[in-house]
Amino acid sequence: MRKNIVAGNWKMNCDLPQTRSLIIDLKKGLEKGFNCELMIAPSHPFLYQAFNSTSDTIIEVVAQNVCEAQKGAYTGEVSVDMLDSVGIKTIIIGHSERRDIYGETDELLAAKTKTALEKGMRVIFCCGEHLEQRQAGKHFETVTQQIEKGLFGFTTEQMERVIVAYEPVWAIGTGETASPEQAQEMHAHLRSFIASKFGEETANNTSILYGGSVKPSNAAEIFAKPDVDGGLVGGASLDAQSFLDIA
Ligand code: PEP
Repeated sequence: MRKNIVAGNWKMNCDLPQTRSLIIDLKKGLEKGFNCELMIAPSHPFLYQAFNSTSDTIIEVVAQNVCEAQKGAYTGEVSVDMLDSVGIKTIIIGHSERRDIYGETDELLAAKTKTALEKGMRVIFCCGEHLEQRQAGKHFETVTQQIEKGLFGFTTEQMERVIVAYEPVWAIGTGETASPEQAQEMHAHLRSFIASKFGEETANNTSILYGGSVKPSNAAEIFAKPDVDGGLVGGASLDAQSFLDIA
């Protein structure tokens, strides 16, 4: 079933005391109730702490990354079994910072997604174009290729556990936001592309989140679009009130 989701990607911010205090602040604001799933993605070392301190709430703690391999000689990596053992059920894969800074290719991202889906996890699979690609009119083509290479090797059953996040790179952390119309246009394109491979039902069940400088002041307008099912939020998720206001 298609769900509304607001997910906070904390990136490499928040040490242990800051993680604790942000969670305390979030928990204080949960009383009013939300009609969306709420997720937070703290850094790996704090996932266990975060999971335990939110287990009595509606907040789901998710991971920012995973290794494509199962176990062994992969210094510095974190496996899907490790994440599973601390209660993680959802992993963000393919964020543009992983693609651009760490050179993660479509093939590697497909392998990571396979590892996560085979473990029964959900995946928030990110895609998005750079500014030059949009200016050259190649934004649909770019994003289509990322989805095709990253996700089209999976079964329909596996695809039902994928959440797509459209994050135009030019809007991430820049204060620039795609207009609600630009977001809707791309989300509708993504949904119909997903339908072309997995069928209408799966496409209609797929949550497609928008990411890129979402703030309390612009969230309502973007999320009101019919194919936008919530957001993946970076900067504004580091402030409990902003994150909850967005949700
Ligand atoms: C992100 O990194 O996923 C993101 C959308 O960041 P920001 O909200 O800060 O643009």
